[in-house]
Amino acid sequence: MQNDLRLFLEQKLISDFNLDKEKVEAVICHLNKKQDCCAACGSKVLASECTECPDCGAFNYNLQEPVFNIEFCSHLEWSLDFSNTEQENTEYYVESFWCDGILQIPEDPESLLYDNIKNDKQIVTKAWIGYGGQDIYEMKIKFGRKSLGNYKKGKSIIGCIPKAGRKEKWITLDVNKRKIEIQLT
Ligand SMILES: [Zn+2]
Repeated sequence: MQNDLRLFLEQKLISDFNLDKEKVEAVICHLNKKQDCCAACGSKVLASECTECPDCGAFNYNLQEPVFNIEFCSHLEWSLDFSNTEQENTEYYVESFWCDGILQIPEDPESLLYDNIKNDKQIVTKAWIGYGGQDIYEMKIKFGRKSLGNYKKGKSIIGCIPKAGRKEKWITLDVNKRKIEIQLT
């Protein structure tokens, strides 16, 4: 498991289950750092999400890395092309806007469940955008057919970010309301 996911889980266990930090750490020591590898002996043998290691017998939470993760958010951040946006407020010169970060933990973490994405077709998170990349925007990431299919299969959605130079506008920006919408393929 990646460190940011571990930290997120730690906070979540403390806030949602009222566990103290010591208990949370006891739970987390069973989480393997790498998908498929035993947290105790490092054997690369784990086949399912919660399972005992066939080599050493240790119990493992063998959690899948979420599809909406820090890597996807970084790719999206670098891909935002503000010279090709649909704008609600045309008085702003947004060509020189840039994005200084996209939060990989949405306001409602349950929105990351596939069933919710299937219904809502979106994830709502925060992004830092502006001339200095410092204003906080509400970012809606809308799912298309390809991204929805990949999400269902647990596959990366990085390839569903439209490529630079695409004619079709996939970024909608409302500077006054500090809102941005992204349409994935
Ligand atoms: Zn083991």
